[in-house]
Amino acid sequence: MASAGPESPKWGSAGSAAFETETPDIRAGRLDPAAYINVFEDLHPPLTRHEAFVEADRCYFCYDAPCINACPTGIDIPLFIRQIGADNPTGSAKTILAENILGGMCARVCPTETLCEQACVREAAEGKPVKIGLLQRYATDHLMAEGKHPFTRTTPTGKHIAVVGAGPAGLSAAHRLAKLGHEVTIFETRPKSGGLNEYGIAAYKTVDDFARRELEFILEIGGITIENGKVLGRDISLEALKAGHDAVFLGMGLPEVNDLGLDGEDAEGCIDAVEYIAALRQSDDLSSLPVGRDAVVIGGGMTAIDVAIQVKLLGAQNVTIAYRRGRESMNASAYEQELAQTHGVVIRHWLQPTALKRNASDTISGIELEYTAQANGKLVGTGEMLTLAADQVFKAIGQTFDAHPLAGSGIGLAKGRISVDAERRTSVEGIWAGGDCIADGQDLTVAAVQDGKLAAESIHRALMRVPDQIDGFAEAVLAGGAAGSTGHMPQPQPSADPLAR
Ligand SMILES: Cc1cc2nc3c(=O)[nH]c(=O)nc-3n(C[C@H](O)[C@H](O)[C@H](O)COP(=O)(O)OP(=O)(O)OC[C@H]3O[C@@H](n4cnc5c(N)ncnc54)[C@H](O)[C@@H]3O)c2cc1C
Ligand code: SF4
Repeated sequence: MASAGPESPKWGSAGSAAFETETPDIRAGRLDPAAYINVFEDLHPPLTRHEAFVEADRCYFCYDAPCINACPTGIDIPLFIRQIGADNPTGSAKTILAENILGGMCARVCPTETLCEQACVREAAEGKPVKIGLLQRYATDHLMAEGKHPFTRTTPTGKHIAVVGAGPAGLSAAHRLAKLGHEVTIFETRPKSGGLNEYGIAAYKTVDDFARRELEFILEIGGITIENGKVLGRDISLEALKAGHDAVFLGMGLPEVNDLGLDGEDAEGCIDAVEYIAALRQSDDLSSLPVGRDAVVIGGGMTAIDVAIQVKLLGAQNVTIAYRRGRESMNASAYEQELAQTHGVVIRHWLQPTALKRNASDTISGIELEYTAQANGKLVGTGEMLTLAADQVFKAIGQTFDAHPLAGSGIGLAKGRISVDAERRTSVEGIWAGGDCIADGQDLTVAAVQDGKLAAESIHRALMRVPDQIDGFAEAVLAGGAAGSTGHMPQPQPSADPLAR
């Protein structure tokens, strides 16, 4: 196949005869065999002990530290940094993990540039924040290397909680519940647990099988059983879970992926980016993955950046991200955008896909895009077209919640996801939810961890009859007062004692 730089269209107009005769250049093994060994190197290599001391010394240990407020899990950042400075990395890790049991993964994947490090006073003063993420990794890696779980369970309560989904939200909820003395069973669709930590996060952010190692670390608390291959809505019903447990937590993520809405999306070469990344993350042989010479990624979030960089690293020659709005509207942070660009990915803005180009064998050969503009507060097509050559087109325009497993449960939805209150209670008593599957979530690992933690604390209060707001959410939703609730009013549930087994 002829190739051209992604900056210039390979063919000027849609429907060119050239598309009919091209064959796709999708191949496995684009790199030299030796190049696969370190193809996904650690994005941010860990700090040495000396570097950690030097970095910890930069922290002002601010009073009312803004970095704490910017952390969704509220970790006492100045305290853990001070503990590192005092050569107490184990104590430091305990400070972190007490708020965020997935603190090791979050140290690797959090967009710190838009969270704690953006808020750091040294960012405002000199554009160089304290490297909070790397310090967090230093401490948590140290503790995990010691091989001793830092928490113990309190006296068994005799309560049993069902958790659906073994992603960050489900694992965080399960760990906190187990720590509080409850028994937990997690029901998970996939053969492996970890959710997107295991199947979605870019390979260069979580090297050395860290998702699995962290999962094992979390389970060391005891009291948590995981049943893999169990799908809510197929193998188990919500009704049965409610009947058989004292409480239920839903942490199901967003299993569906948005389509582009174009003809030919089922053609070979038009690929769901999340599925591709999952295959990549699970592959024992990266040289077997199909990689096009020309790849176009549609989207503007982390998934778009991650698939673009990984495909480029696997040997694609030209990788272009096409995003329908401007740079500042992209969900991917400025840092992530720069990361893509320094890996040779071209990001083009103000372009929306209008047609997939296919060749005679019905495989993808290009994509037609229309330039867009903002007019009267709306995004409109300008009518000016551009066609880019593409052996692979990756769809990365967001994921959606699958509400089918909740059919008939009466659980209220908002914006297509589960509606919850501040404690992560759904509109049905006895059922909590958190992570990507709830409305108004941040779609970040750290936010899912916080949801799981808050829900677990709320479940504990409810089950142990801690006198604090056990009842009333369903009524609040019906009165229109619950946070995040719009439309789709839930039906009140029979409430003999829905928290009882
Ligand atoms: C490609 C990609 C890259 C990302 N990169 C980052 C990043 O760098 N940093 C960051 O902070 N965030 C990132 N995110 C977002 C982050 O991964 C999510 O916000 C986080 O994983 C949400 O956790 P969760 O537990 O809610 O959902 P998930 O991690 O999706 O876990 C949900 C689990 O529920 C299971 N499940 C679903 N339905 C059922 C059912 N019916 N029955 C039983 N089990 C079910 C799923 O199999 C899954 O294991 C990324 C997301 C994607 C897609
Ligand atoms: S804002 Fe920055 S300097 Fe202040 S406590 Fe947090 S990390 Fe330290």
